[in-house]
Amino acid sequence: MSDQHQPATQAIVAGRTPASSSLAPALWASTVWESDSLVDARRRATGTRAQEFYSRYANPTVRQFEEAVATLEGAEDAIAFASGMGAVASVVLSMCSAGDHVVAQRQLYAGTLAFLQGPCARFGIETTLVDGHVPGAFAEAVRPGRTMMVLAETPSNPRLDLVDLDELGALRGPVTVVDSTLATPLGQRPLDHGVHLVLHSATKGIAGHNDATLGVVAGEKDYIDAIWAYSVLHGATPSPFDALNGLRGIRTLSVRTTHQAGSALFVAHALLDHPGVAAVHHPGLPGHPQHDLAKRQMRHGGTMIAVELAGGLEAAERFLARVQLLHRATSLGGPETLVCHPATTTHASLTPDEAAHVGVTAGMLRISVGLEDPTDVLRDIVRALG
Ligand SMILES: *Cc1c(COP(=O)(O)O)cnc(C)c1O
Repeated sequence: MSDQHQPATQAIVAGRTPASSSLAPALWASTVWESDSLVDARRRATGTRAQEFYSRYANPTVRQFEEAVATLEGAEDAIAFASGMGAVASVVLSMCSAGDHVVAQRQLYAGTLAFLQGPCARFGIETTLVDGHVPGAFAEAVRPGRTMMVLAETPSNPRLDLVDLDELGALRGPVTVVDSTLATPLGQRPLDHGVHLVLHSATKGIAGHNDATLGVVAGEKDYIDAIWAYSVLHGATPSPFDALNGLRGIRTLSVRTTHQAGSALFVAHALLDHPGVAAVHHPGLPGHPQHDLAKRQMRHGGTMIAVELAGGLEAAERFLARVQLLHRATSLGGPETLVCHPATTTHASLTPDEAAHVGVTAGMLRISVGLEDPTDVLRDIVRALG
């Protein structure tokens, strides 16, 4: 029904309960529902995602959030988790077994990379890492009959390299999964390019207010049901309260991301010629090496920028000591502009060689542009640059 609407309108109409006249979703805190009879109890206990049985199986507030994300992603269904990592772990472990092979990109969220290289390796799931922005890299690493999954992240963290979604969607054999957190469901739609599953850390832009820890996966119903069958045992079940905040975030997602992406591009442009800045990365800049790809597959260039300071680590330290409006914190997608130093925080576990490979330099700062007036954000940055 809501497919006839523009994305901004979909974000308003999606995930409503037809039976309720309440405009705001109800918070179903209940963990358990009563059954009428043995027949009814059996139906609830054995059904896939049975409603009104037990909250780890399904919860009405969580279901509304899932339906809203499914609508925005153009998916048949979606399933939410207690965090983005809950989503990543459940997707990989529901589909991969000992002896299976995964192809992933080096430019992954550090937690996802650590999960593949730690627990997955221990369980006998082997991972090959490729450079996701290099054309043909994923296809080349796929081993026919053995590669169960291809896992990509675009835009990637922190340098904002892109993966060609058409290329990923054209792969035959493995299940293709895209972590689309940095784009949000309004920034791009991987499923439209033939990718099987899209996942988000809804902790970031979707919930958007730094007050919910939440993950979500969307795709064909058969895949989502299979992920549910595993995840109901894994137990990374989202809190209904966080799902409520996720749904509230979706209602304002369009205005927030439009403002933040515009501000990010404004700041990125303004910093290009600053003598203290060696490089600025944002997919919306004409100088970004994948700017044409960004225009093909993204509705906007995203709300993040990466800035490499000419003075290296010392300049980064000085910058972080001087900021007043910007907050020194690692998350993204919220109302406040955040700045972090990937080399000592999000990417601290990488060897110097690995860090160089994913483009993390000593002078690099990652900035999540917030909802402030962009001229104030820029003024604080320029003052901190000195
Ligand atoms: C934050 C993040 C995750 C992990 O999400 P959590 O909600 O922190 O578990 C995964 N992928 C990306 C791209 C992220 O930014």
